[in-house]
Amino acid sequence: MTSLESRLNNFIDDVSKAIGSEKVSTDRPTRMCYTLTHGPECLLHENYIEEFLPAVVLRPMSTEDVQEIVKFANKYLVPLVPSGGRTGSYGAEGMRDCAIVDLRSMNRILEFDEKNYRITAEAGLLMADYVKFLRERGYMPLDWPASERSATLGSRVAVNGYNWWENGWGPAEFHVRAIKVVLPNGDAVKLARGSSRPSKCGISYNLMSLFFGSKGTLGIITEVTESFIEIPPMKVYGSMVFADIKDAFEAYLDIKRPRYSRLVWRTTVSTERYLKFIAPYIIKKEWPEECKAVVDYHIFGEPQAVKEMEEKVVNILKNHNGFERPELSDVRAYWDVHNLLEDYMGLASLTKRIKNQGATMRMIFLDPNIPDSNLIAFYMDLQRLFSKMEDENHYPALSQVMTVLESGTPIPGMEGYNKFWVVLLADWEKWDNECRKEFKKWFREYAELVWSHNGSLSTTHGFIPRELEVEFLKRELGEKEYELMKLIKRTLDPNNIMNPKIFF
Ligand SMILES: Cc1cc2nc3c(=O)[nH]c(=O)nc-3n(C[C@H](O)[C@H](O)[C@H](O)COP(=O)(O)OP(=O)(O)OC[C@H]3O[C@@H](n4cnc5c(N)ncnc54)[C@H](O)[C@@H]3O)c2cc1C
Repeated sequence: MTSLESRLNNFIDDVSKAIGSEKVSTDRPTRMCYTLTHGPECLLHENYIEEFLPAVVLRPMSTEDVQEIVKFANKYLVPLVPSGGRTGSYGAEGMRDCAIVDLRSMNRILEFDEKNYRITAEAGLLMADYVKFLRERGYMPLDWPASERSATLGSRVAVNGYNWWENGWGPAEFHVRAIKVVLPNGDAVKLARGSSRPSKCGISYNLMSLFFGSKGTLGIITEVTESFIEIPPMKVYGSMVFADIKDAFEAYLDIKRPRYSRLVWRTTVSTERYLKFIAPYIIKKEWPEECKAVVDYHIFGEPQAVKEMEEKVVNILKNHNGFERPELSDVRAYWDVHNLLEDYMGLASLTKRIKNQGATMRMIFLDPNIPDSNLIAFYMDLQRLFSKMEDENHYPALSQVMTVLESGTPIPGMEGYNKFWVVLLADWEKWDNECRKEFKKWFREYAELVWSHNGSLSTTHGFIPRELEVEFLKRELGEKEYELMKLIKRTLDPNNIMNPKIFF
């Protein structure tokens, strides 16, 4: 076996010849950009730049380019890390001596099949461009993440994304109809639900499903076909305020019921901490003390049905002691909030990152999936866990560097379940080894809490500190189920070249 250095050099030479040297970067500043994603794993490594520094960044422009890259990665045993917009909380960060495969130059819309409600595009297409293309033609996607400005289409499969409209329409996997994927052996295959055609078919395995949540460990997705719908003629957005948090949760649980979900596409509970943080930006004033939560709703459909549904929703909210405060009603105006979050994190541009300290204040997103039956109890227990993080006795180091920004916003998942949205702010500059140790300990307590409420650790973001990952995956999946995952990985990727730093 030749040395790692010569294998990497040969890999870079051969790939440059095959796909063109203009698509290959080996300079250190470019490589350094790919050490970071929006995810928090970097906080847990003292020398993350060296540990996560790729050897090369590749920007393929076609499925054939990706096939060449995979072919040479197998020949020279070079790990490949697929990368989209790097807004996912886990998976796209580099690893020492890997090749990053940045898909964002593959951003063409390939087919718009209006009559059959199908659209096919390359995996690196920005979700914002994808949404714009459809909206300009009177349509909208159902797979629509809040991070549309930076997230890419292929990642929606790789992470099995969460949708704005999950209450009505379910997650990304419900709307992706076919994918093209370059397998670890270099073959490009088109997979759908039992066929290679973008429709349901009963004649064979639904092979596409395997790639949902695979995070680049089983292949590189190069094309995605999704379905879309007409923009509904009417939409209403409204909200009510609650003086008691439990009333707010009860109201939310009542309006997210499956019987309403074809019209109520989204509803959330915003709780105090978040409201106090966001109010000065959105409503330009302090949040009133007496208001502990806001429940909001989006209703879509034909005008008559929307009007009737809104009347019903307003009655439900009032029956749970909700009251109107029109001057506060825009506080969940989602587009503004997410643009603000992205700016704050410095995702939008480098200037903003520097200006807003995006490089030091990192957001840690947690999104456990909690059943309706345990939602309120989980919320209460979680607040106690946050108090422990902040009280200086249980986690003295962590209490100095962590702020709880959003302490739990439930958003509907599939029937009976909720994505429980939590945002923590970490003052990265002050992190030391004690903080790292305490964070892993805290995360263990947090995981036990989620499991004790019959929840699962993450709806989409997928973050588990890497050191705990195998143990926690076995806890949540089961030993045999984890072995099955390993068997599939070994069968498809015997040289372990596809994103080998995660899962195993
Ligand atoms: C402010 C904010 C809001 C968010 N809101 C949402 C939301 O509403 N819904 C939601 O689902 N998520 C949300 N996210 C998380 C994230 O944006 C999504 O999961 C998104 O789909 C990730 O896209 P990306 O292109 O940035 O993927 P990356 O972070 O670049 O990659 C994620 C994982 O997928 C793998 N991967 C990427 N592309 C490919 C490919 N073509 N083939 C194989 N593997 C690949 C990577 O290796 C990595 O493991 C949000 C994030 C932020 C920062």
